[in-house]
Amino acid sequence: MGKIWFTATNPRTSGVGPALARSAALLGAALLVAGCAGTETSVRTSSAPGGSASEVSGAPGSGLPGAETPSPGTSASASGAPGPAAAPRGLAEEARQGTEAIRGAVEAEAREAEARKAALLAAARRWGLPRAPLLAPPPPRTTSLPPTRRGFGVNGPRTRGLPPVFTRVPTRDRVVFLTIDDGVDQDPATLRMLRELHVPYTAFLSDDAVDGGWEYFRAAHEQGAALQNHTLLHRYLPGLSRAAQRHEICGMQDTLRRHYGRAATLFRPPYGSYNRDTLEVARSCGIRAVPLWEAEVFPGRVVYRDSDLHPGDLVLTHFQGRAQWNGSMADALRTFLRTVTEKGYAVARLEDYI
Ligand SMILES: [Zn+2]
Repeated sequence: MGKIWFTATNPRTSGVGPALARSAALLGAALLVAGCAGTETSVRTSSAPGGSASEVSGAPGSGLPGAETPSPGTSASASGAPGPAAAPRGLAEEARQGTEAIRGAVEAEAREAEARKAALLAAARRWGLPRAPLLAPPPPRTTSLPPTRRGFGVNGPRTRGLPPVFTRVPTRDRVVFLTIDDGVDQDPATLRMLRELHVPYTAFLSDDAVDGGWEYFRAAHEQGAALQNHTLLHRYLPGLSRAAQRHEICGMQDTLRRHYGRAATLFRPPYGSYNRDTLEVARSCGIRAVPLWEAEVFPGRVVYRDSDLHPGDLVLTHFQGRAQWNGSMADALRTFLRTVTEKGYAVARLEDYI
């Protein structure tokens, strides 16, 4: 009997368009019946980084694309032998229509992918970048929290269960994660640039730095940014009592809840400084993990903790402008994007990986 192998990946996660998925499903249903007649066919739609790739193949003599000659099993049998080997003509016609629909949808998707690529390159040029940012692969299906980086743990009993402190997410994907801290500079151009270049990022906000500019970060959130906890007053936490640390961290949870309806799951201590009280208090107010960073970006330069970027590195920059450093926020983002793109990294969303 013939072999039918049919897969159509989820269009929501794979980038395969709904038209193609529908056509593939139609053809699959037709083939399922025709398959009983000895047809050997495989249809697969899948996505590849940079666009969607599709493959349709028919075994020689299957009566499918590129096979003009009907196979003995699928033709109206010349021998006149009745039975399950004879596929009704209607089904063959349906399969042919399904194949044509797939071909049309594949071509349409390829055109759309080209158009998206061209638009991204045009946006990159508008923002002063020589190349478009690389497209991130689909996020992992399953995730777990990274372990605490060696040397970044705290002393004392029962460290198990404390939120892990890490600077890199273990992954083979050639991606890095952009994190932007504080919230002082609120230039609308920053959000426009990040949106037009499709750059995902996580904002670690401090109430003091945001200084009432919650609408700005609401707009950031609506265009996809994750908003996380960076304390109320951006103080050096190891110098504070446990109660004062609780006020800094849990108080910021309340503030985020008040403005956006939900508290943070990630927490970054100011200056990357923390002690055991910090992690215990953070856990008690709902924090799952404490991501620090491997590299820090300023306008025109990148400072590495190690000597270079690695897959899964967290990269830090700040919502700052000319008043705070020697350049604009766009300059810092240009430095970031030019660097990671040249090194062959795409920017992925941290919350998708942990
Ligand atoms: Zn900060």
